[in-house]
Amino acid sequence: MTLSELQELERTSVVPSYARSPVQFVRGEGAWLWDDEGNEYLDFLCGISVTNLGHCHPRVVAAIRDQAGQLMHVSNLFYTEPAMRLAERLSRSSLHGKVYFCNSGAEASEAAIKLVRKARPGGDVVVVYGAFHGRTYGALSATPQEAKQAPFAPLVPGFRAVDPTPQAIAGAVDARTAAVLLEPIQGESGVNVLSTEALQAAREACDEHGAALVFDEVQCGMGRTGTLWAYEQTGITPDVITIAKALGGGLPIGALVTGERLADVFAPGDHGSTFAGGPVVAAAALAALEVTDDPELLARVCELGERLHAGLERLPHVRSVRGRGLMLACEVDVHAPDLARRALLEQRLIVNATSPTTVRLLPPLIVGESEIDTALQRLSAALAAAGDGG
Ligand code: PLP
Repeated sequence: MTLSELQELERTSVVPSYARSPVQFVRGEGAWLWDDEGNEYLDFLCGISVTNLGHCHPRVVAAIRDQAGQLMHVSNLFYTEPAMRLAERLSRSSLHGKVYFCNSGAEASEAAIKLVRKARPGGDVVVVYGAFHGRTYGALSATPQEAKQAPFAPLVPGFRAVDPTPQAIAGAVDARTAAVLLEPIQGESGVNVLSTEALQAAREACDEHGAALVFDEVQCGMGRTGTLWAYEQTGITPDVITIAKALGGGLPIGALVTGERLADVFAPGDHGSTFAGGPVVAAAALAALEVTDDPELLARVCELGERLHAGLERLPHVRSVRGRGLMLACEVDVHAPDLARRALLEQRLIVNATSPTTVRLLPPLIVGESEIDTALQRLSAALAAAGDGG
């Protein structure tokens, strides 16, 4: 079908909850996507940090094909090998506790909120401004952004939002606090790296008052910042991490991983999901995790991140660059949504605007030097055009 036929179907049949760009993609490989007319695009967004291994990574594709031909679903009333092996691998690679599977980032947030509330009944959850934890009610209530929350009031009670400063976080935690929930690097609000002091203050306050420290690694995890988990670079170990996005190598899966202390809080019947940890997504995630948890690949992420960071700093109209590894954003003095649109439609480079002045770049971790240089050339041309307004 042509793009205009799809747009007509969308107009008549799809709830208008997304503002889509006028492009129909039909194929992807590595860092590249092709539209229905055969045009080639360089993907520096990765479906918002999902296709971290590039499109259709051969090991992920093979794992999906094998598993889909063997067994696709049995529910969580029975055992399957991919889910148990993935849980062991995830736990071993992070907090050495236990894993709860779900289907998305928002569901991972929900699971974390329920877990910490069960550990401290009636307790508050402290969150910080600029956070994004998802769109379901618990996750939305933990996302202190007026525009996202206001139309859906009343929200779930028991959340307390503070600035992401050491003083504000320390001051918000007391004996009634169930948890502090943070993204070590805030993705949706424009790649804002929380200070080590703020994370340290959260850790100390949680230790002092017996609360849980939960890091949302849905966007910054799975190798994105140059270590498998972003917390590894902070020197601070949380009690729980939430994961999703890139975990499934392109398929939908989320997970919560606990440390030892909270490993047995949930009992049978407390929480669950029909599809969670199904054999196909678990096999895909196991392959994605094995490919990602590779010191050479992670070291490349740091190197390539530095190359991209330095290249961005040299571009016209770029005021500053921030982020870690291949999770970067720049402040620009042109209209960022216009820049992202020009990059897509005129330069065939996919990036996105997170504010009127912020452009976010989330290239695949398998990107090459020449692709980084091509992206910089294309972005430079889009910046020049946006600057001219032509
Ligand atoms: N947490 C973070 C840090 C995210 O960036 C997102 C999505 O962007 C979510 C949670 C929600 O994930 P999902 O869209 O899979 O529900």
